[in-house]
Amino acid sequence: MPHDRDGHPLSLLTIHAHPDDESSKGAGAVARYAAEGVHTVLVCCTGGEEGDILNPAMDTPEVRANIADIRQRELDAAAKIIGYDEVIRLGYRDSGMPGTPANDDPRSFARADEGEAVGRIVEILRRERPQVIVTYPEDQQGYPHPDHLRVHAITFPAVDAAANRSAYPELGPPWRVAKVYYSAWSRARIVAMHEKFLELGLESPYDAGWFERPSHDESITTRIDTSEVADVRRLALLAHATQVDPTSRFWFGLPPEVADLVYPIDDFTLARSDVETALPEDDLFDGVRGG
Ligand SMILES: [Zn+2]
Repeated sequence: MPHDRDGHPLSLLTIHAHPDDESSKGAGAVARYAAEGVHTVLVCCTGGEEGDILNPAMDTPEVRANIADIRQRELDAAAKIIGYDEVIRLGYRDSGMPGTPANDDPRSFARADEGEAVGRIVEILRRERPQVIVTYPEDQQGYPHPDHLRVHAITFPAVDAAANRSAYPELGPPWRVAKVYYSAWSRARIVAMHEKFLELGLESPYDAGWFERPSHDESITTRIDTSEVADVRRLALLAHATQVDPTSRFWFGLPPEVADLVYPIDDFTLARSDVETALPEDDLFDGVRGG
């Protein structure tokens, strides 16, 4: 099992807002580290109860009546495909898209007491001892879901508190996270997909609007090669059968063997580092790995 410089087993922890976020963001990179023997932990903050059923074949009264349970089973299936060792559910309620009634539910993640939510993450960080965590950036690039913003808001206070022995002393000995990353959806990925659609004579789902949005690729510091686990992202997404339409041109418009390798990279931005590392990197554990 790979270790850090102090002899601790390498551990990677991701914080996601809803079931399916772990599959659409960085699934290949996690699969690669899991295959290498790195301990991998997924923290999923909400149950995704407010998600619409986006697959018409799954939009039945039975599914609608049991959506919360079904999304939990989908999450388990996807986490297994990715190779996560552990899935930790914080159990907050999905806060819904901005301006929807779910925003006002006192059980929602966005309404939850921030100190309490931070404490939950501190407890997890001290127990799981991840050297590397992956979270969301403050700028959600046109997708300002309250739960995604909350994931960002609680991450740094939790990382700071976990390392501070006088904070939450009842939650165990301090643990210092060495590196914090944001998962990134790169322009380079969109361009590669778009060009492949055109090359194959297929209609691209990426219209001009996609290319008018500002690119944030200059902030990408770390590119993880996922070609060894190329099908994981697609199979994990498909496990979220209520959320992902298998006939969607956006997700599945390319033949699977083409789609898996058209952009076999997961992009990340190094948001904070306690260790020396030369950018750009091709390993989230750069500067952390023991000899
Ligand atoms: Zn989400």
